[in-house]
Amino acid sequence: MLKVYTNADINRDLIKNYKIAIIGFGSQGYGQAMNLRDSGGNIVIGVRPEGASDIKARDYGFKTMPIEDAAEWADIIQILIPDEIQAKVYKEQIAQHLCEGKYLMFSHGFNIHYGLINPPEGVNVIMVAPKAPGHTVRSEYTAGRGVPSLVAVQKDFSGNSLDVALSYAAAIGSGETGILETSFREETETDLFGEQAVLCGGCSALIKAGFDTLVEAGYSPYMAYFEVCHELKLIVDLIYQGGISDMHYSISNNAEYGDLTRGKFLIDEDVKSKMKKILDDIQNGKYATEFMQEMNGGSRNFKKLREESENHQIEKIGKELRSIFNWSKEGKLVDRSKN
Ligand code: NDP
Ligand code: MG
Repeated sequence: MLKVYTNADINRDLIKNYKIAIIGFGSQGYGQAMNLRDSGGNIVIGVRPEGASDIKARDYGFKTMPIEDAAEWADIIQILIPDEIQAKVYKEQIAQHLCEGKYLMFSHGFNIHYGLINPPEGVNVIMVAPKAPGHTVRSEYTAGRGVPSLVAVQKDFSGNSLDVALSYAAAIGSGETGILETSFREETETDLFGEQAVLCGGCSALIKAGFDTLVEAGYSPYMAYFEVCHELKLIVDLIYQGGISDMHYSISNNAEYGDLTRGKFLIDEDVKSKMKKILDDIQNGKYATEFMQEMNGGSRNFKKLREESENHQIEKIGKELRSIFNWSKEGKLVDRSKN
């Protein structure tokens, strides 16, 4: 039976015994730091002095320090800067401040699993990975709930690493809903696969292919946008709450019959074998090597692909429609000037 930790299983006060440095004040840095502070955590934010994050974090009343000083001060160092930058920052500003009994923490296993960061003996290596963007980590906490998190222990020197990870996870709100234990390998590989094959890569390619098919057949791009993009959220909300069955229950028989007969035709064994190839490249490290080379080599291809994606017709149509209708303005979680 799956073990799900909730507040009742967790020593929630444990985390208050430690000095915590949150390195970075981006999406996760903001969400986790705000919640930890409200839960009584003793934290500072490690930043680039006078950078955008330094200013934002101080605006929220946090104490900030240069990353090196924060790493020296802290017992727990939670690294919340982009994955492709972590190894460099670790090597130059964090590694020399790691001593026996400190906890090095992550919200994604990428750098540890692929050996880009190799902490010294005696350091505890743990993960608390909220299964949501940082702004949602915050908004769910303030609503009295919390987002689910994964915890993992790569190295346990002090003997209480799992308890510390659970206490941290509870402090960011995840004990309200549920915390699952995994490994760095499993979290890293399944996370990459999910975002590449289904959630981000698969989904946006599916939307664009559907949009192009309708537009090329002479239908209005506005209609195409509504049918293949806007309504996706409504369908996903149903799946999120009650699974594919509740979604089927709610849609018309016509839509359900079309789903059951056409879905499998589209996403067939060929697509599945491509998914297997994507997973192979994640497992054998090819994807990680490619990503790091791209990011360290000026990101030319990445920037080109991003620009192509932003210039797709669906983006212009969507922008125009969203400015006319008001569904996306209410309760907006992201305000780029503040968080
Ligand atoms: P962000 O991209 O939001 O991080 C931005 C932060 O990194 C800013 O504080 C920025 O500071 C700092 N930063 C960027 N470059 C440098 C640098 N060279 N030196 C020092 N600081 C730098 O990160 P995320 O929150 O998206 O991701 C953090 C971790 O959390 C990653 O491991 C990610 O995989 C994981 N994660 C992210 C999720 C998400 O939804 N975003 C979900 C679950 C896990 P400045 O303002 O000075 O530029
Ligand atoms: Mg993910």
